[in-house]
Amino acid sequence: MDKETFREFGYKFVDWVTDYLEDVEKFPVMARVKPGEIREKLPDEPPQEGEPMERLFEDFKGIILPGITHWQHPCWFAYFPANNSPPSILAELLTAGIGAQCMIWQTSPAAAELEEVVMEWLRSMLGLPEGMQGCIQDTASTSTLVALLSARERATNFESNEKGLKVPLTVYASEEAHSSVEKDVKIAGYGRENLRYIPTDENFAMIPSELDKAIAADKAKGMKPACVIATIGTTSSTAIDPLGPIGEICAKHGVWLHVDAAFAGTAAVLPEKRDMLKGAQYMDSFVFNPHKWMLTNFDCSAYFVKDPGALIRTFEIHPEYLKTGVDAKVKNFRDWGIQLGRRFRALKLWFVLRSYGVEGIQEFVRKQISMAQMFKKWVEAHENFELLAPVPFSLVCFRYNDGRGEEELNQINEKLLNEVNNTAEVFLTHTSLRGKYTLRMAIGQRTTQERHVKKAWDIIVESSERLSRE
Ligand code: PLP
Repeated sequence: MDKETFREFGYKFVDWVTDYLEDVEKFPVMARVKPGEIREKLPDEPPQEGEPMERLFEDFKGIILPGITHWQHPCWFAYFPANNSPPSILAELLTAGIGAQCMIWQTSPAAAELEEVVMEWLRSMLGLPEGMQGCIQDTASTSTLVALLSARERATNFESNEKGLKVPLTVYASEEAHSSVEKDVKIAGYGRENLRYIPTDENFAMIPSELDKAIAADKAKGMKPACVIATIGTTSSTAIDPLGPIGEICAKHGVWLHVDAAFAGTAAVLPEKRDMLKGAQYMDSFVFNPHKWMLTNFDCSAYFVKDPGALIRTFEIHPEYLKTGVDAKVKNFRDWGIQLGRRFRALKLWFVLRSYGVEGIQEFVRKQISMAQMFKKWVEAHENFELLAPVPFSLVCFRYNDGRGEEELNQINEKLLNEVNNTAEVFLTHTSLRGKYTLRMAIGQRTTQERHVKKAWDIIVESSERLSRE
């Protein structure tokens, strides 16, 4: 591609993205295509000769866009959000333009040093303990894997990756922990059978005394408890495991405490939400995703550790071809995780933090929480709806309940979710809480306003009325 074509399409694409962000509301939130429909429109073989950009752009709009589910739609209430923002998008453009691969300090000193700085900014914004140090990982799943690997190494005195496991190591998480915990336990070699799910209380938070009992029982059997994973903001209902008591138990038994705050961690920017971090002094590691609720394009997961030495001892390796004269003086982030090659993710975070400022981000998060509180009140006030979990952040768990039996309620709520999503006006997803089919209203998109939340509620109520007449 020549320079002028690049410039021409560069401008066109920025115009397109600008209009897209403005008009995304006009698209159906969820892609309206059937399995295989997009695949059928794509040729089996790559072109032998290069094609003009104009044709590529047309195919992007004509073939790809109809198969896109619009995460940036203001009526996105599914899963958790993955919100982006204009400053983050612009930074991604620069990152792609520079095309730097930032594996070590020497391969882009600015990337390494900026990462140190933005991680320190985030640490202080969230009120994490002083001295914790951070690096950017791709996702929370990877961050938890990194924590489990570090915990495994510490529990085996940094010998297991040389000699293999001698004693079975055990891991503990609440029964509401994210599925990545199970996946990571398997990958990290603990074995699925050595993961203990700890029961939760009426608010879906881990019961510390049950954790203590489980650890003691394993010790009595000659096993070595290695890691506890507490969650702040569980995936199903954003429950908060009590860090203080859990941390005390971890300290007593010498177990690594990892905290998964993938979605809800962003809320710690609000002083009024800091309570959730009470006990943070016990944390060995902590992860939250700016790519979920802090306006930063996917992917960007902020991972913090109390003892970077334990992390580095787990991952470092020194091949001749990567040695440099400054290794003793700098941070080589290749030693802080699994991958060698690294994207320059700190740039988008820097743009977001500077462009919004701490106050801008606080205002954004507060507004989302207040819209969830508004929705919660509507649920509570309606005779045929009920809340199924507390609402500490911006997720509301609820269901239709007109008094019929549990099995029928599960069926009608599943139908209700399908009806609501079939309108293509809004998109919600579900979970199961204590066997109850639960609708999740996850608020967190950058452009979501009260009118969008109201629209979702109206659609839900109208659909439920229609269904109840059937
Ligand atoms: N942990 C929790 C509590 C989550 O809610 C999620 C995703 O929603 C994850 C981990 C996984 O996040 P990621 O997609 O960054 O791996």
